Formats: sequence, structure tokens, C-alpha cells
Amino acid sequence: MKVRVRLAPSPTGNLHIGTARTALFNWLFAKSLEGEFLLRVEDTDKERSKKEYLENIFLGLEWLGLKWDGSPFIQSERIKEHKDAISYLLEAGLAYRCYATEEELEEMRASQKRNAKPPRYDNRGRSLSKTELEQYLKEGRSSVIRFRINDEEIIKWNDLIRGPMEWSGKDLGGDMVIARRAESSEIGDPLYNLVVVVDDSQMQISHVIRGEDHIANTAKQILLYDALGIKIPIFAHSPLILNHEGKKLSKRDGVTSITDFKKMGYTSEAMNNYMALLGWSPPDGMDERFNIKDAIKKFSFNRVSKSGAKFDWEKLNWINSQVINQWDKTKLLTSLLELWDTQGWKIQNKEWGLELTKLIAPSLVLLKDALDQGKPFFEDPILNSDAIKQLEMEDAKNSLKMILNELENNPWDGKNRERANEIIKLTMESLKVKKGLIMKSLRASLLGELQGPDLITTWSLLAQINKDQSRIRNSIK
Ligand code: GLU
Repeated sequence: MKVRVRLAPSPTGNLHIGTARTALFNWLFAKSLEGEFLLRVEDTDKERSKKEYLENIFLGLEWLGLKWDGSPFIQSERIKEHKDAISYLLEAGLAYRCYATEEELEEMRASQKRNAKPPRYDNRGRSLSKTELEQYLKEGRSSVIRFRINDEEIIKWNDLIRGPMEWSGKDLGGDMVIARRAESSEIGDPLYNLVVVVDDSQMQISHVIRGEDHIANTAKQILLYDALGIKIPIFAHSPLILNHEGKKLSKRDGVTSITDFKKMGYTSEAMNNYMALLGWSPPDGMDERFNIKDAIKKFSFNRVSKSGAKFDWEKLNWINSQVINQWDKTKLLTSLLELWDTQGWKIQNKEWGLELTKLIAPSLVLLKDALDQGKPFFEDPILNSDAIKQLEMEDAKNSLKMILNELENNPWDGKNRERANEIIKLTMESLKVKKGLIMKSLRASLLGELQGPDLITTWSLLAQINKDQSRIRNSIK
């Protein structure tokens, strides 16, 4: 069987991480079996579908590198096919027009509530007498179209993630609406379950891979496949992504769209790596930090969990910092230059930029951390209180004076690191002070704080752009 899977997003919001993870599972599965990954835009909700959301979905998938095969299928262009299927079901007696008004249905639900019964459609439209039908038509009542669901039916499928599944017809809420309300001779807008079945079948989808929130839909869809006499695909329902409270990750949790993660400074490699881990666990011997191309060979639904996957920021951060640190430094510099450019910061030359990149790379969790980390190399620092305290220590300023004196007599161009070590040694010996005191004071004067990357490299970079002497001078004024 040729593997053909699809992602079917509705453009009613930006690309959500849950949809992106579904895309990734579909993509990994397709690639692992040399199949095809298709995209279908489910844009039949005219009011809520927006062009900018669609663009966001396309851009998000492209950024993640989850490229789909061929052109996207646009659901709203296929209404004729959907209505043909409905006509067929009507003619075959498998669907019928239900003339119940909204008020009548409301009264039905209220009465179920009064009697402590679960809400469901009571299938009243199935067996209208001739007189009732004539009466409704005379009143000019509109109708929805409902698909018959037998309560006795047991729907079974073998889920690739969940194993054997069983659903009872009586738990599906009664006969299902497949077309919205319309004048009685017309077929109203076709609805989700019907449309998905028609489209998946015409797109020759072999496997439907989607979130577990669609399980009840799958049961209904299987009944529709049977009624339409078309082949049922194989299903896989992946676990939901949960927040730290164990509830479905939602807008209330802050960032949920892929663009937000991108803006925050996460890389697409880290996102793919982390999203794969939201539900899938790599086989023994495979690290949690992997390249998504390597995951293709190892991916299978046997290792996808049935229970919800908790979103873990720490793990995402850890993966992102690993990715950034493993990037080729020229590639990283290109990204950092874009960031630095937003502040008007320019590098002296590429070699200097690369050295700075290498210096700060290990401490970057997010790309945008390079703003904080890079700042002292482009702007003179304001000394923080720890740095001020350090410079007030006995011998601190004397040591710096001596270093400055050395530099003024014989400036360091930042190239030969031995020179820096010699100056420090000389200061230690002449003033009889500890190396630690000199290093800390030097750091305070060069960076304005006591934390930071390797000191000699920092000094060297500042010396290369003639900033070391002026900073030392300012700090001992
Ligand atoms: N448009 C549906 C959604 O975004 C698609 C569900 C499906 O994959 O069938 O949830």
C-alpha cells in the first residue's frame, strides 16, 4: 500500500504547536515509509477562516521544514463533491431531512435535562408520517440533513497508537447532522465529519494521523465510510499536549503558536526535536537530542505513548541550547548579525565576529540571549553594584592602574594571548596581589559585572577594537 497521509488544518488561528506536532508525526511516518505527506486546508468555516492565518500556517510549516507534497487541497473548492455524497446518502435512505425547529430541539434538550438524561438527538425526524411531512412543507420549514446512526452498532478499529478500539453507536449522540440548515429543497453547507470522509477518500489517504480529541469523530466517520461504500483508512490518534497542570495546552498558557516560539528565539531544529519527544520516545541507544532526519529511520507508532505529553520548557530550552551550540559558527554568526543589527551593532570584521560568536555560544539558550551576551562588546557598560564593590577592594584599582600603564606603554592588539598573561603575572609579582583579585577586578572594569565568559578572550576581543584601555581608565577614575 502506498502511504499517503495528510495534515488538515483549519485556518481559524495561527499554526498551533499541537497541529505542528501532528504535522511532524505525519511527516515522519510518511518519510519513514517513503510515502507522501499532503496538506488540506479545511476552510469551510467562512466566518472564522482568515487569509493571514493560512499564511501563518504555510510559513510555520516551511520554517519547520515540514514540506508537503504537491499543491494543497482547498476544502472550500470541493463543495460539489461533498454535496454529491450527501445526495447519495439521501437517495439511499441512509440520511434524511430533519425539519425540527431550533425551538423544538431546545425543548427536547430541556426535557432531557429535567429527567437527568444525557443530551442527545432523539431521532424524531426518522419516522415522520405523511401528514406531518406535508404539514412541515406547507409551513415552509427549513431542514438539516441527518445521517442515521444505529444505537446497536458497535464500531471497531485497530488504532496504530491505541490498539483495538471500540465505540458504541448509542454514544454518538443520535443521528448526526451532515448538512447545515437550508430551505427544504436545498442541501445546506456540508459539515466536518462528512466532508473529511469524502476528502480523505478522494485524496486516497491511507493513514489518518491526528490528535486524540478526534476519537469520537473517527467512530462517526467509519460509519460514513461504510455507508458510502468506500475504503476505511488506518487511524492513529496521538496524545494531547498538556500544560504543567495536566490540562490541554491552550492559549491561556501563553505561547502556543509556532511563530511565537520562533520570535522567542527557538530554532526550528530544536522545535522539531522537542515536538517529536512530545509523545514519541526514541529507541534505546538513541539520544534525546537528535537531528530530525535521523528520527525518520527510527520513527514508529509503537513508541508513541497513549497518555498525554506534558510540555516541559526546561527540556525545550536544553535542546535549543544544544542546537545553537552545535551550529556551524558561521551560520550562527549570520543569525546573530541579524539580531545585533536591530540594535545598530556592527562587527569590526568577520574574524572578530566569529571569535565573539564562539565565546558566547555555550551560554545561549535562546538566540535572542545574544543581545544580552553581546551588549558589552558593542556598548560601554555601566558598572553594576557588585562590580563597584569589587573595584573598591584593597589593591583592585592599583592593579588596574598597573595594567593600564603597561598597555599605554606597549598596547596589546589582542592577538597574542601570552601578552595578556604576562601583564597579569607582572602585576601579581610587582604588587604582591592574588591572581583572583586581578582577574575579578579586570572583569569588573571591562564588562561592568562579575559574571561572564572567558576573561582573556573577552579582553582580547575588546583589545582588538581598542576598547580595553578606555574601559580600564574609566573604571579607576
Ligand atoms: N480541521 C481539523 C482540525 O484542525 C482536522 C481534523 C482531521 O485531521 O481530520 O482539527
